[in-house]
Amino acid sequence: MNSIDDLLQPYSELETAIRGLMAKLFSDTCGMCTACCCRADICEEATDSAFLLKLLERQGLKADAMDERFGWLDLHGCSLEYGRPPICYEFFCDELLARLPDEESRVSARVLGKLLDHVGQKALGGWHLVEVMEAEDLAKVDLGGVSRRLEEAMAAYEVIEHYAQSGRLSKADHEILDAIKLDIP
Ligand code: SF4
Ligand code: SF4
Repeated sequence: MNSIDDLLQPYSELETAIRGLMAKLFSDTCGMCTACCCRADICEEATDSAFLLKLLERQGLKADAMDERFGWLDLHGCSLEYGRPPICYEFFCDELLARLPDEESRVSARVLGKLLDHVGQKALGGWHLVEVMEAEDLAKVDLGGVSRRLEEAMAAYEVIEHYAQSGRLSKADHEILDAIKLDIP
């Protein structure tokens, strides 16, 4: 990886995969929800962040495409294919967690929701990748560290996707997930 632009494709592919798996796992509950947890101030993070803005531009969107009142939300849910703030994947309300069958599936869900946050940790000093606001500062990002965390997140995604089908986690799977779980408070 030579520049931040090389990150856009693998990151967007991972995000798209995460979004698809989360929709498969949780849309029964979230689709019926009358207390949508989306907020316009969270949507704005996608336009404030230099990295997320690059992802919006990649899908042909400009910052001013965001609705002032509803953000990126439309009648079908979030209209962003990718480039959502990582926090959008991290929140699980108690109702959603309570519907999962056991603690292992709850931990797996939390890890799944944490993967994009994991990728961007400490990308520039103490800043998360999505906290970098100026496009020129993206050239100073620790690409080696971000690449390593991206690989960890991709490996963990594969484990969780398989777990969603099989309901089983091996010792090796737990070790892969542990790299992400450590970030969970
Ligand atoms: S996470 Fe909970 S509050 Fe948010 S949309 Fe799903 S069910 Fe509703
Ligand atoms: S999921 Fe989309 S609509 Fe919801 S808060 Fe995030 S960016 Fe906004």
